[in-house]
Amino acid sequence: MSTIRFRALEKANSRTPIHVEELDKKSTIFGSNVFNDKTMRQFLTSEGYKAVKSAVQHGTKIDRKLADYIALGMKEWALSKGVTHYTHWFQPLTGGTAEKHDAFFETSFDGADPVEKFGGDQLVQQEPDASSFPNGGIRNTFEARGYTAWDPTSPAFIFGTTLCIPTVFVSYTGEALDNKAPLLRALSAIDEAATEVAKYFDKNVKKVTPTLGWEQEYFLVDKALANSRPDIMATGRTLLGHTAAKGQQLDDHYFGSIPTRVLNYMRDLENECMLLGIPVKTRHNEVAPSQFELAPIFEETNLAVDHNSLLMDVMQKVAERHEYKVLFHEKPYKGVNGSGKHNNWSLATDTGINLLAPGKTPMSNLQFLTFFVNTIKAVHDYEELLRAAIASASNDHRLGANEAPPAIISVFIGAQLTRVLAELEGVTNGKLSPEEKTDLKLNVVGKIPDVLLDNTDRNRTSPFAFTGNKFEFRAVGSTANCATSMTTLNTMVAKQLRDFKKEVDALIKKKDLKKDEAIFNVLREYIKQTKNILFEGDGYSEAWEKEAKKRGLSNHKTTPSALKAKVSKKAMDLFEGLGVMNHVEVEARYEIELEEYTKKIQIEGRVLGDIARNHVIPTAIKYQNTLIENVRGLKEIFGKDFEKIAKEQLAMIKEISGHIEGINSNVDKMTEERKKANNLTDIEKMAAAYCDKVKPYFDIIREHADKLELMIDDEIWTLTKYRELLFAK
Ligand code: ADP
Ligand code: MG
Repeated sequence: MSTIRFRALEKANSRTPIHVEELDKKSTIFGSNVFNDKTMRQFLTSEGYKAVKSAVQHGTKIDRKLADYIALGMKEWALSKGVTHYTHWFQPLTGGTAEKHDAFFETSFDGADPVEKFGGDQLVQQEPDASSFPNGGIRNTFEARGYTAWDPTSPAFIFGTTLCIPTVFVSYTGEALDNKAPLLRALSAIDEAATEVAKYFDKNVKKVTPTLGWEQEYFLVDKALANSRPDIMATGRTLLGHTAAKGQQLDDHYFGSIPTRVLNYMRDLENECMLLGIPVKTRHNEVAPSQFELAPIFEETNLAVDHNSLLMDVMQKVAERHEYKVLFHEKPYKGVNGSGKHNNWSLATDTGINLLAPGKTPMSNLQFLTFFVNTIKAVHDYEELLRAAIASASNDHRLGANEAPPAIISVFIGAQLTRVLAELEGVTNGKLSPEEKTDLKLNVVGKIPDVLLDNTDRNRTSPFAFTGNKFEFRAVGSTANCATSMTTLNTMVAKQLRDFKKEVDALIKKKDLKKDEAIFNVLREYIKQTKNILFEGDGYSEAWEKEAKKRGLSNHKTTPSALKAKVSKKAMDLFEGLGVMNHVEVEARYEIELEEYTKKIQIEGRVLGDIARNHVIPTAIKYQNTLIENVRGLKEIFGKDFEKIAKEQLAMIKEISGHIEGINSNVDKMTEERKKANNLTDIEKMAAAYCDKVKPYFDIIREHADKLELMIDDEIWTLTKYRELLFAK
C-alpha cells in the first residue's frame, strides 16, 4: 500500500472543524488593529492628526519633526496592544509582500537604559537589503541602494505582535523597485486628468479617486493531502492527475452549502479581516469543487490593493490553523474551472459621485457617457498593454487555454448602452440645432435608466465588462498583485482623459462650440473609432477568435508573447508621458517578469520530471511485475492455452511498457530542451524557449502518466488523486 498517500488521506478524513470564537459585532471590531481615523484622534496631537489627514487627502508632505510625534503616537498605540516589533511592509516585484522586523526594544551598548524606541526616522524610512529582491538591472545601472518609505495614505496595522507600516520601495536614484510606487503615481495621474474632465460637469470637483473592489477566488485543500503532492508544494498546482469521474458537471458545489470545516475557516478569516479593516462582505462556493470566493466592499484603489496583498497572506496563515492549504494558482487542477481575481473598477469624485454610474438628469448622464466612452477608448487604444498587464505563467492556463476568459481583450457593454452609442454616432458634426440638442437630452441621454438591466453578470465570457456602475476586469489572475493591472488601467484612462480634454477645449475655442456640443462631437468620433473593441457574444467561441483577428485585435496566448507590448514604444511613451514609470523602470519590470516566467516553467519541468520518474514509473513497474507474475502463473496452470486466457494481462503489460517509454523518452527530451534554453543568454529568447520548446512536453508526459493512473492498482498509486484532493472536506 502506498504509505504517503494513505496516511495523508487518513489524516485528512479524521479532521474535525476547529472551533472559532464568535467575536463582537463586526461593526464593533472593524479596524481595531488599524491605526485609523479613530485611533489617530486618540493617539496623535491634533497637529500630527491633521498632517496625516492632509497627506492622505491632498498628498502633502509630512515634515520630519511631525513624523517624530506621529511615530510616538503610533508606538504608544502599538505597545498598548502588546506589539513588540515593527516592520516596513512592502510589495516587491516578486509579487507577494515583504517585511523585515525590528524590535522596538533598544538599549545602550552596556545594557543600561533599556527602552522601547520608535521615532520619525524609523517610521519614515528603512533600508532592507535590496540585493535580495529582483530589480531587473535597475540597481546595477545606477548602483543604487533601495530604501522603503512610509506611505501615509495606507494606514499602519498590527498583525500578530508586529506593527506593519505600508511603504514604497525605491532605489536611491528614485526608481521604483516595487508595485506600489508606480501605482501611486498612476492614481495621481488619473486624479488630475479625471478632475479636469469632471469639472465640465461640476466646478466643485476637486479630486477623483479610482475605486477597486476585487473578488478573490481560491481553492482549499487539506494540508496533509497538499503535502503528499510534491507538485502542489513546489508549484502550487498539480502537474499530473487524472480527472475525477465526478467533477463540476452537476454544479452541486456552487449551489451546495459550505462544509462546516470550510465555513469555520471562512469565519476565522473574516474575523481577522475585520480586525485588519479589510471590509470583506461576501463569501460563497465557486463553480469547481473546493473552490471559493471572497469579496470586500470596494475601496480607494491603493488601499484595496494593499488589502488584497495582505489578505492573501492572512488567508494562508489562517489556513494553517485549520490544516488547510490555500491554492491561489489560476489552474491548480486540470479539467475543472480555474481561479481569477475580478477587478471591479470605477471613479469617484470628492463630491460623492460615481462617474461610471448613470444619473438622473441628462447632464449627469452625459457625464457618465463621457467617462464610459473614454474608458472604452482607452481599452481600445491599449488593449495589448492591458493584456500584457495580466500575463503570467499561471494565468496562461486561463487566458488562451481552454478556460475563461479568452486572451483577446474586448469590452462588453450590454444591449441598452450599445443602442445609446449607436444613436450618439448620428450626432451632427459641429454645431447642433436646438431641436437636436433637445432630442439628445430627452430621448437619448435622458433615457438612460439609472439601473441598467442587462449589465449584470450575464456575459461571463467577457474579459472587460461594464456591470452597471463600474467596469469589471475579469482577466486578472488569482495570484496577481492588483497593482499591476490597476497601474496600467488607470494610466491608460488618465492619458485618454487628458487627450479628451484637449480635444474638447480645442473645439470650444476654435469652432466656437458650446461645451456640451463639443463633448458630443468628440464622443461621436470615439464611438466610431472604437467599435472594434466592443463585443457582446461568446468570448470562448472559435468564431470570435476569427472575428477578432479580422478586427486586428491582439490574441497573445502565452506570457512571453504578451509581455512584449510592455516595452513597445507606445507603452514607454504612455508611462513616461504620465510620469508613472520611466523607461528604465518599465524595462526592469519586463525583464523581471520574463525571468519569473522562465523560472516558473523551469521548476515545473524539473518537478514534473522528478515525479514522473520517481513516482509514476516505479509504481508502473511494480504493477507490471504483478501482472507478469500473474501471467507466469496462468502459463503454469494452463500451458499452451495461457495466451488466450492471459490476453488482457499481456496487453496491459505491453501498454504499461509503452507509457513508461513515453514518459522516459519525453522527460529526456524535455531535459535536453531545458539545457539548451539555459544556455541562452538573452532572457527574451530564454523565456521563449521555455515556452515553445520545454513546456509542450508537459502535456505529453502528463498524458502517459494519467493513462497509467487509470490502469494501475489504486492501492499502490502514490500520488494523491484528484477525487481525494478535490472532495475531501
Ligand atoms: P455582484 O456582482 O456580486 O452582484 P456587485 O456588483 O455589487 O455584486 O459588486 C461586485 C464587486 O464590485 C464587489 O467586490 C464590490 O465591492 C465591487 N464594486 C461595487 N461597486 C464598485 C465601484 N463603484 N467601484 C469599484 N468596485 C465596486
Ligand atoms: Mg464579479
